[in-house]
Amino acid sequence: MENRFQMFNTLTRTVETIIPNEDGKIKMYTCGPTVYHFAHVGNLRSYIMEDVLEKSLRFIGYDVKRVMNITDVGHLSDDADSGEDKMLKGAKRENKTVMEIAKFYTDAFFKDCEALNIKRPDVVEPATNCIPEFIHMIEVLLEKGYAYLAGGNVYFDTSKLDDYLVFSSAAEKEALKEGVRDDVDVDENKKNKSDFVLWFTKSKFEDQALKWDSPWGVGYPGWHIECSCISMKHLGEYMDIHCGGIDNMFPHHTNEIAQSEAYLGHKWCNYWLHVHHLNEKGGKMSKSKGNFLTLSLLTEKGYAPVIYRMFCLQSHYRKPLEFSYDVLDNMKNTYDKLIKKIAEIPAEGDVDEEAYATYRRKFEDCLCNDVNTSTAITVIYDLLKSDVNGATKRKIIGDCDYVLSLDLLKNADALKNGATANVDAELENFIQEKIAERKEAKKAKDFAKADAIREELLQKGIAIKDTREGTVWELV
Ligand code: AMP
Ligand code: ZN
Repeated sequence: MENRFQMFNTLTRTVETIIPNEDGKIKMYTCGPTVYHFAHVGNLRSYIMEDVLEKSLRFIGYDVKRVMNITDVGHLSDDADSGEDKMLKGAKRENKTVMEIAKFYTDAFFKDCEALNIKRPDVVEPATNCIPEFIHMIEVLLEKGYAYLAGGNVYFDTSKLDDYLVFSSAAEKEALKEGVRDDVDVDENKKNKSDFVLWFTKSKFEDQALKWDSPWGVGYPGWHIECSCISMKHLGEYMDIHCGGIDNMFPHHTNEIAQSEAYLGHKWCNYWLHVHHLNEKGGKMSKSKGNFLTLSLLTEKGYAPVIYRMFCLQSHYRKPLEFSYDVLDNMKNTYDKLIKKIAEIPAEGDVDEEAYATYRRKFEDCLCNDVNTSTAITVIYDLLKSDVNGATKRKIIGDCDYVLSLDLLKNADALKNGATANVDAELENFIQEKIAERKEAKKAKDFAKADAIREELLQKGIAIKDTREGTVWELV
């Protein structure tokens, strides 16, 4: 198929046309949540944009397979392999077991996703399901000389790679080297400061609750290994797009690439997409700060999840987004007005295939332009202003909403149904004309035509009923 989807590739720092490994198919991986607490709306920004990415690819015709992990083991409170285990921290906070915490917050995460119309990835796999795969990959890395044992732990040796910091420019590499802090938790076992743990049997901090037997002793995996193994388990050795929030670039994605390519002996994933952060006035929204904004809190305050989704879609994923209730209020107004406009689309005409194709192409072009969701929404406004007939408008909006997932037709129809009494005059005239036409057809014993008219109205959501007083209609 024609490859016309362009996206900023963090690996090359340029906007590139995605050329999948296999024609027409995209293998995609998303870093999933660490399930020790509720997702905050910042995390959800990342998942909304990744959902839009997946749906955009499907919409333009790719067969997409998307895999996501659930981090239920191994993510320490500091990205640099130090600090407490996040899951253990959650379990202690709530006086529960780690697995109870994992189950509760995994369910809570998917509930939020459902409310935000985020499609569940084709495969969702918790890290604790894949311990044998982790052990296998670590064994191979040791055999190949990319890993070493020290002080009971297995480390990845970053000095074995020509280019470890794949996402960083030369200047950033220098800054990173100088910026490595000597004061915190230096792990004496590491040969190089940037080495990272593949398997722990000994941690300086309180031990993990969940442990597994391994060739190196009873222990638990480091954080990064899960994404390499889970993606290869379901997507094979070659992947097209890997995505996550921008904070995942370093060290997480950098380490994923290091260990995957060392293990495979070839390039692993061609395209990387990173969603920028949702910030609060005080800076990045973060779970570890404790006091963070959840979707349920927004819902309690009267903002439906689609309002938050629209708030995210109105900005570009490659720009930081600042959260504020004022902007959210504006978004609510904007959304309500949009729904009202859609509800006012007259039920008329048949789908004009040419107009449909033109608008669909315009919409797709916005998505193909580095997932430009805000201009894609503008296409819907342009359509509403245009003289395209009602049936076509509804079809375009319904289809494009597969990607936007803003419940546009659903909420417009609900608004219409709730306001049956003041259906606009244009619609009332149209229905009365059709009822009269059907009466004539029945008089002429043309029952096929009469049935066709009934069906035509039904297609537009209008049901008619013959009563003693005459034909009446209602919105269905
Ligand atoms: P975590 O549950 O902490 O592993 O994070 C889940 C996802 O949310 C990852 O892709 C993170 O990069 C992303 N993320 C974390 N904080 C933010 C934020 N403030 N804005 C957007 N995405 C974020
Ligand atoms: Zn990951």
